[in-house]
Amino acid sequence: MLLIRDVTVAFSGVRALDGVSLEARPGRILGLIGPNGSGKSTLLNVIAGAIAPDSGAVTIDGVPVPAGRPDQVAARGVARTFQISRLARRLTVIQNMMVGRRNQPGESLMTLLLRPGVSRRAEAACAQAAYAMLQRLGLAHLANHPAGSLSGGQQKLLSMGMALMSEPRVILLDEPAAGVNPVLVEQQIVFLKAMAGEGRTVLLIEHNMEMIADVCDEVVVLDAGAIIARGTPADVRQDERVMRSYLGE
Ligand code: ADP
Ligand code: MG
Repeated sequence: MLLIRDVTVAFSGVRALDGVSLEARPGRILGLIGPNGSGKSTLLNVIAGAIAPDSGAVTIDGVPVPAGRPDQVAARGVARTFQISRLARRLTVIQNMMVGRRNQPGESLMTLLLRPGVSRRAEAACAQAAYAMLQRLGLAHLANHPAGSLSGGQQKLLSMGMALMSEPRVILLDEPAAGVNPVLVEQQIVFLKAMAGEGRTVLLIEHNMEMIADVCDEVVVLDAGAIIARGTPADVRQDERVMRSYLGE
């Protein structure tokens, strides 16, 4: 289980997060919603180790994750996508997928030099896994196209696939559906449910309330760096404070 305890982050004196606590469970999809600037991406950055909080802690299965160390957090099985896709635009789609996989035996220089057979087999296995994932994503026909030639929506699907290549226990998604056409959003929804079905913990930041209502078991609402509501998507939609914060009153 992913546990966030009393996390506070200030940027030059301004509190982006103010004592946020929540937990996310394996096999569940937790939605994180809130107006722009409410601290959603900052929270995701804290969990991913990209930002060290001023106070508070993140633990996975009771073990604290090292603050501000994204590499070590990734090694603990946490993967993420970004609000703006980060792809190697000139590499092909399948090459991007293969970069997404970490800690494969073929990656070590020693293995490469001393046991080239092992390294080649690992490379082939990785390519196979990447291709299988592209098939699941409906992107297999684009495997050899440069990633930069994909539509924005396809790039977001690709980013999800890349994050999954490391077989994460926890996956963090920052507005995957923003600017994506409804057909591809539908594909994302199927994919998100499959991730949870595999027992992964999914944390989803999203403005698309239909998507949130469709996939989330629980929703947490942030406003000005604090949690103002949590519950099922239906509960949260009826909450008066949530309505007010979205209407900006
Ligand atoms: P959201 O993702 O909910 O739109 P963010 O987490 O990006 O919100 O931002 C929360 C607040 O923190 C905003 O006021 C934003 O301007 C501020 N903020 C975010 N990142 C930085 C940063 N690197 N430096 C300074 N202020 C930041
Ligand atoms: Mg954001």
